[in-house]
Amino acid sequence: MERGILVLHTCCAPCALPIIDFFLHKTSKKIILYWENSNIFPFEEYQKRLQEVQKIAKIYHLQLYQGEYRHQEWLSYIKNHLSHPPAFYKENGERCLYCFRFRLEKAVNFCVKNQYKEWTTTLSVNRWKNTNFINSLGRELSVKYKLHYFNIPLEAKSAYQRGVKLSHQYQIYRQKYCGCEFSLPNRAKISNK
Ligand code: SF4
Repeated sequence: MERGILVLHTCCAPCALPIIDFFLHKTSKKIILYWENSNIFPFEEYQKRLQEVQKIAKIYHLQLYQGEYRHQEWLSYIKNHLSHPPAFYKENGERCLYCFRFRLEKAVNFCVKNQYKEWTTTLSVNRWKNTNFINSLGRELSVKYKLHYFNIPLEAKSAYQRGVKLSHQYQIYRQKYCGCEFSLPNRAKISNK
């Protein structure tokens, strides 16, 4: 089994591009990509975003592991943890915190199952997300499962700008909403994620 490799949980290609660029040019770490984003709805959008991640994995010659699409499981998990229906919450509220937890727990399970010791997530460098929560959750899960969480030292705004540039360079689709059905009505507000 492979060891000494960092698993990069990848939320989407536009967010992953500046981070992959950072790992390749500023570190000596070997990375692999792990795709687990059962939050995305509808399935066609999920496939579209996954295809873009497959495209960048090919460009950078990176291994990509794909989790299953478990949207119903994601939905039940979210509903079971919230006191109000998911649509009640605004983006970046409690619903999103459980959404992050669902996906990061899957990423950690993947690391444990495959004996990877170090990991991180593209969600932690995002100017629209609660990155303090995401990094602290990453560390919490790492302690629990005896893994090492890598804190990506990138500034979210400049990473975003680099991501836009690289997306254009590689002609990568940039989604117009966060991902789940509850973020769909906010499309205009959160365009250019
Ligand atoms: S808005 Fe985004 S982060 Fe929040 S629950 Fe939906 S997909 Fe997850």
